[in-house]
Amino acid sequence: MERSRRRFLKTAGLAAAALGTAPVVKSLAAQTKVLPSPKAFKGQQWAMIVDMRQLTEEDIAAAVKACHTVHNVPQIPSVKEEIKWIWPAEYENAFPGQATRYANLPEKFHGKHFPLLCNHCENPPCCRVCPTKATFKRPEDGIVLMDFHRCIGCRFCMAACPFGARSFNFSDPRPYLPNGQAPNPEFPTRARGVVEKCNFCAERLAVGQVPACVEAVESGALVFGDLADPESQVRKLLRENFAIRRKAELGTGPNIYYIV
Ligand code: SF4
Ligand code: SF4
Ligand code: SF4
Repeated sequence: MERSRRRFLKTAGLAAAALGTAPVVKSLAAQTKVLPSPKAFKGQQWAMIVDMRQLTEEDIAAAVKACHTVHNVPQIPSVKEEIKWIWPAEYENAFPGQATRYANLPEKFHGKHFPLLCNHCENPPCCRVCPTKATFKRPEDGIVLMDFHRCIGCRFCMAACPFGARSFNFSDPRPYLPNGQAPNPEFPTRARGVVEKCNFCAERLAVGQVPACVEAVESGALVFGDLADPESQVRKLLRENFAIRRKAELGTGPNIYYIV
């Protein structure tokens, strides 16, 4: 864990901010009961880079396992009721706009899996349609969050999200925790009738830990950082490499970039 944190601090150009009572931590503490930490990371617009030149299938599996374990994401056997925060998808399904099979990228990535997760969009349609403000974009750092207690399960947000990033708990998820494990006490379990999704590991950032999926991919093929910081590793990678985003033409402003 310390190695990941050091790597993050070094490459993301981030300073561990002594936030004290800063709103970023207060709002998080209200949701997750995490106490403010002097180690908390501070950013204005978090983003993730997925370097597909390095990422392996094993890396994706490790990222999914880490995320779903720390967040008590249930493994429900029924495909119709599947809950997922990060998941693998083939190029053709992840980037359906790239229609032709014979251009460079489709040929290069045919059959290869891309890790998909919530894009923490600049203009998130999911938040606009939520009648209770149970899902909202945090102004401090751009993370699109869920307040599970306010969610009434109307699923408007699921219909509005063009990325399939949200899952609905059709039944009580608690009997289906990953690997039959005891729940991670650091993160709330959910109830029947509630929507959930990736939260960019807001609860970990608040205590100075990198996202669990980033930590799990030892090669460094997942990079997390602040787009607003021109010195950050995410900005450097975007300056120096060609990257694509899912369905960018829809104008939601995805903040997950894939270097291809
Ligand atoms: S990917 Fe979907 S759920 Fe995530 S912020 Fe964008 S619209 Fe909302
Ligand atoms: S399901 Fe929950 S988060 Fe989604 S729109 Fe309805 S109340 Fe909001
Ligand atoms: S950023 Fe955190 S919540 Fe999102 S997919 Fe990675 S581990 Fe899961």
